[in-house]
Order: sequence, then structure tokens, then C-alpha cells
Amino acid sequence: MATSTADFIDDKAILAALDEGKKRVSNHEAEEIIKKAALGDGLTLPEVAVLLNVEDKELIGEIFKTAMAVKRSIYGNRLVFFAPLYVSDFCINHCVYCGYGAGHKFNRRRLSMDEIKRETQILLEMGHKRIAMEAGEDPENCPIEYILDCIKAVYSVSVKNCNIRRINVNIASTTVEEFKMLHAAKIGTYILFQETYHRPTYAKMHPLGPKHDYDWHTTAFDRAMEGGIDDVGAGVLFGLYDHKYEMLGLLQHAQHLEKEYGVGPHTISVPRIRPASGINMTSFPYLVNDDEFKKLVAIIRLAVPYTGMIISTRESSDYRDEIIRLGISQLSGGSCTGVGGYYDEIKHVNDPKHPPQFKVNDERPLDEVIQSVCKAGFLPSFCTACYRHGRTGDRFMSLAKVGEIQNLCQPNAILTFKEYLEDFASPETKKIGEKVIQDYLKHIPNPKLQHKTEERLVKIHDGTRDLYF
Ligand code: SF4
Ligand code: SF4
Repeated sequence: MATSTADFIDDKAILAALDEGKKRVSNHEAEEIIKKAALGDGLTLPEVAVLLNVEDKELIGEIFKTAMAVKRSIYGNRLVFFAPLYVSDFCINHCVYCGYGAGHKFNRRRLSMDEIKRETQILLEMGHKRIAMEAGEDPENCPIEYILDCIKAVYSVSVKNCNIRRINVNIASTTVEEFKMLHAAKIGTYILFQETYHRPTYAKMHPLGPKHDYDWHTTAFDRAMEGGIDDVGAGVLFGLYDHKYEMLGLLQHAQHLEKEYGVGPHTISVPRIRPASGINMTSFPYLVNDDEFKKLVAIIRLAVPYTGMIISTRESSDYRDEIIRLGISQLSGGSCTGVGGYYDEIKHVNDPKHPPQFKVNDERPLDEVIQSVCKAGFLPSFCTACYRHGRTGDRFMSLAKVGEIQNLCQPNAILTFKEYLEDFASPETKKIGEKVIQDYLKHIPNPKLQHKTEERLVKIHDGTRDLYF
């Protein structure tokens, strides 16, 4: 049975490693750790602590270069796209940093199934194939049955023969029985941000409501695994507490999952606190500045090389363009962070009675983001092949670690990007994108696979969708 206490987050061990990191940090020591990280085998807690304490500009440059190289060797230059879909903002928790906290007064709502389908249609027309379904915690207004209905409604919509092919779900920690229901509904990743691993800060940030229970929240992935969900997505809300402590907490969590279930988190998200309605940003003394944040992203890439890393539209477009080079593998685009936000945006509705959860910092439409990453030399991907072929959990990780999945990622990215260009891209993006496809096609190392990809590209142009290897 899954553990119900989060003893695997060991405060004493984190503090000891941070202390050791401070003492051990020297140019020589850091250089050795960076060399080890370059092999792509991950890092230990004290090694991460040493890198977190590096202040030398040249060495930080080395950390960035190595993170880029590790990212490139595992993920190539691909970037997978997704969008959030907010279905309900009812919430009985009082998270201090969130605009949807129960203490905030606004007209809460949850979408009807027709509204869900309307939002899904808009996302599909943008070209999205992957979503993260988001809902606050409220067993009365947003029970698990409602979420299951939402999942069905999303999967039922199709536009130009395309539908949403992977629904990742971000809802509150729940029971093994409810995780089994989510698994049966064919969700992709179960996402839950820890927010902070530091118990006293956690208690302060979550003063009331079920989320106040640190152990219940932190052991959610254990119950998810017991319920059959083997892809889980972790994350910290950077800015609540010392980012060095959070980084080591995150690593301990990943190590716990690896030890108990043979597979670490499928993804790690790296959100930073953003302004939101009713939130006073000056009350957070641990905000992480842009330079520290870049270092953090690069160190996570080195510490857990095979875990996908996600950056959202909380960050500005320019900053996102910088940070995707340091290890990010998934990006949201064209996002709305409010319930019914996609339809409201089209209709230019800006109702202060329906605020978003937080303010988006990159407001570019998906097509524009795609264009910009193409110009920066990246290959956009809408691939969901592993999920469709049952390559999840430890099966996914064992194939990823021997490099087998990577061989398929590039052709799959090319094919799904081609599908996007044919169906949804603007003429300008199509022109730039076709060139990117031709460039990347040349670099598929296996000639047989290259030939098959070429054949399928022609078929996609002619309307046949044989997308995945
Ligand atoms: Fe509710 Fe989630 Fe916001 Fe907390 S972070 S108040 S649980 S919506
Ligand atoms: Fe992701 Fe698998 Fe597609 Fe590669 S082949 S991009 S790992 S879903």
C-alpha cells in the first residue's frame, strides 16, 4: 500500500547537503561535477548543492553549456507544445499565492459540457493536440465524476479529423480509487505541483482547506502509482521559499519515486509566482530573479536528464526564448489561464468578475510562438506517440535511457509538425516551417526511417494521417 507520510522529504538531509554544498564549492569541485553531469547520468543531492552555490560567471557559463548539450543529446532541438484548459475555478483551499483561493470573492464557475467542447474546438483550431486540464479543489462543485465527464467531452471533439490526443490532468491530491478512475478514463500525466517542499512554509502558504495537509499532498503520486497512473508530473512554485532547498526537495521526491516504483517524474514544471488578483507580490521574500532561475533550470536538466521539463506562459516571450536552450522540452502556447478563457478571448470579454488564475506573461498566439521557435532553430512537435503506443512509466524510461525513444522522436516531431502546418498554420509560418522540416529530415540518422518519414510526409500532404512511429 502507498505510503501516507512524506518522510522521503528529509529536511535534515536537505540542510546537511546544502551545508556540504557551501563548504565543498570550489572551482575544481564544480568542474568535476559538471564533467560528470555531461555524461547524462544525473547528480546526487550534495553535487546539486555544490552547483547551486557556484557564483563564478565562467563556471555558470559551463553549467549552461553542459545543460544545453545534455538537452540536445536526449531531446535534440525538439519542443513539444501543449495548452492548459481551465474547467472549474471553485476551490475550498486558501493558498496564499493563488487568485482562486477560497477567500477571494468573484463569480466562480465551472464549464458545462457544451462549453468544454467549445473551448476544445478553439484549441484544436489553434493546432493543439495536448492539453493540461486544470481545476481547483471542491468535492461538491467539482467532484471526480465532473472531471471524468470533462475528459470524455474533450476527447469527443474533432476538427479537420484532428482531436486532442493526450489530456494531462492537474487536480488536487486524491484517493487511490479516484486515481483508478482517472487511469480508466485514459489520462496522460497526472500533474500536481508540490508548491513548496519546506514544511513550515507549506503550512503558512496553505492555512486552511484539505491542501493544508502536507503528507496528503506530497504522497499523491504514490497513490496515483497505486491507482495505475505511471506518468506523474512534479513541480515547485518558485518564490515561496529558498529555491536551493526546493531544488533538493524536488530531487528527493524524484529519487523516492524512482526507488519505490522504478520511475521518476515524467515531467518537472518550473513555474515562478506571478501576480494575480488579490495577491500582494511584496509579501514573498524568496522571489527568484531571472539569473538565478536560469541557473536553476540548467541544474535541474543536469540532475534529472531524462525528465521532461515544462515552461509555461508565466514567463515573458524573450525570456522563454532564452530558457528553452537550457533544458526545457515542453512549452505552452496561446494559453488562457481562466475558466472559459479561450472563448472569452475570441469574444473580447474581459469580465473582472471572472479573473484568470494568474497573469500570463507571453501573450503571443500559438502560431507566433511556433514561428519564433522555428526561427531560433528548434523543431516544434505535437507528438503524443508514446502515450498512444503505451510507452509510459518505467517502460518509457527504460527505452529513453538506452536512446531508443529518441530515434523515434525526431521523425514523429517532423510528421506531427507537418500535420500542424497543413491544417492550422498561417502562410508565413507554413513557409518557415516547411524549411525547418526539410532541414531536420536530412538529419534523421537511420536511412530507412528517413525514407519512411519522407513517404509519410507526402501522405500527410495528400490527406492521409499515418503519424507515429
Ligand atoms: Fe485552489 Fe489550486 Fe489555487 Fe490552491 S492553487 S487556491 S488549490 S486553485
Ligand atoms: Fe515524446 Fe514519445 Fe513523441 Fe518522443 S516519441 S516526442 S518521447 S511522445
